[in-house]
Amino acid sequence: LQRPSIGIIGAGIGGLSFAIALQQMGFTPHIYEQAAALRPIGAGIILGNNAMQVYKKLGLDEELCARAERLSYMAVTREDLAILAKTDLDYFHQQNNVPSLALERSELHRILLQHIDRRALRLDHRLVNIQNTTDDVRLTFANGWCFRHDLVIAADGQSSHVRKQLFPESQLRSTSQLCWRSLTDLSLQENLRHGLREAWAWGTRFGFVPLSPTRVYWYALQSTVQRYQREPDALLPNLFYKYASPIPELIRNTNRQTVHAEEIRELKPLKNWAKDRVCLLGDAAHSTTPNLGQGAGQAIEDALVLAQCLDKYAYQAAFGRYQELRQRKVRWIARSSRRLGRIAHWMHPAAVAFRNRLSATTPGWLKRRQTARIFRLAEV
Ligand SMILES: Cc1cc2nc3c(=O)[nH]c(=O)nc-3n(C[C@H](O)[C@H](O)[C@H](O)COP(=O)(O)OP(=O)(O)OC[C@H]3O[C@@H](n4cnc5c(N)ncnc54)[C@H](O)[C@@H]3O)c2cc1C
Repeated sequence: LQRPSIGIIGAGIGGLSFAIALQQMGFTPHIYEQAAALRPIGAGIILGNNAMQVYKKLGLDEELCARAERLSYMAVTREDLAILAKTDLDYFHQQNNVPSLALERSELHRILLQHIDRRALRLDHRLVNIQNTTDDVRLTFANGWCFRHDLVIAADGQSSHVRKQLFPESQLRSTSQLCWRSLTDLSLQENLRHGLREAWAWGTRFGFVPLSPTRVYWYALQSTVQRYQREPDALLPNLFYKYASPIPELIRNTNRQTVHAEEIRELKPLKNWAKDRVCLLGDAAHSTTPNLGQGAGQAIEDALVLAQCLDKYAYQAAFGRYQELRQRKVRWIARSSRRLGRIAHWMHPAAVAFRNRLSATTPGWLKRRQTARIFRLAEV
């Protein structure tokens, strides 16, 4: 069987996962990455049970488990760390025979890269132009190189150059929330060792999760009514000093130079993800707010579904089926995540009291049903 030649733009989590899935199905994809070296930001990442089900199918789950911390739960708490709502991840571990994990982004990238045919990856190739023709797709890079492929998959992230060129009407919108994230060395108490806690107060929140017995990933958010400060990391100790231990210690213990700060943005839902021979994947297609910890999870699901569709159908049918199988779920996740982010930042004391009571009284079966929907994979 003659496989189409496939070019992938972007060697992020989505692009690499897609390349691995394609290789396992007998394709020989080429990946073009703008960076001269792959150095993901120094932060952690949650791989939800859905992402891990995909990696199990691709045979990566054991390697990932060996380099990560298994999560038993994710909890929303008050600023004193008293739990308001808890998602039981052990239940889904038992159901699907694979855990949810937390690990360093650099570890995830390292493991993904080990499964890529290194001849397939071209670093220092920033795409500057893409041209769909009736027979192929022509790519032009900033370094002067040009390539042709039968099909191109754009996994070039939230600010996707391909998306802007193909769908100039697409729009990123601000959530007016600023996020800091980093890693630090600290041994957490035993009762904080097995899950993620996200503490909510008034217009700020702080999440932390162990990545190993001595390493912790943390993130902090603030409503950015005042927009960017000149030195946003200088704000951190003042914003979170009232939060319970170990939050102030985590901030104090972190090297300021390693704190990554950015405004949280999301993509306004796109009607179409494909045009002629080019198709979008991951954040390029549906960048969402990080409140459910599902952005990469959705890119990873895309990767498997799109590869399976290309394995089964001709490209027009494959792109159509991929969008049909994935779009509804990612839209629902984006909506739920946006809503959660807004509620988390309520400032009025009465609204906060109502929110906290509601979180504490939502029945367990309802939370489990919603989580099951997030973790359910599509069948191609
Ligand atoms: C604060 C925060 C916390 C998050 N936490 C989680 C979490 O815990 N769990 C989770 O599942 N998700 C999380 N996410 C979301 C997750 O990081 C993204 O959804 C995921 O990285 C998307 O992967 P991607 O491959 O689509 O895009 P990216 O990871 O952005 O990769 C795109 C790649 O394309 C390259 N590229 C861009 N333009 C070009 C070009 N013109 N030419 C060539 N290459 C190009 C880039 O250099 C990059 O390597 C979080 C996001 C944020 C902001």
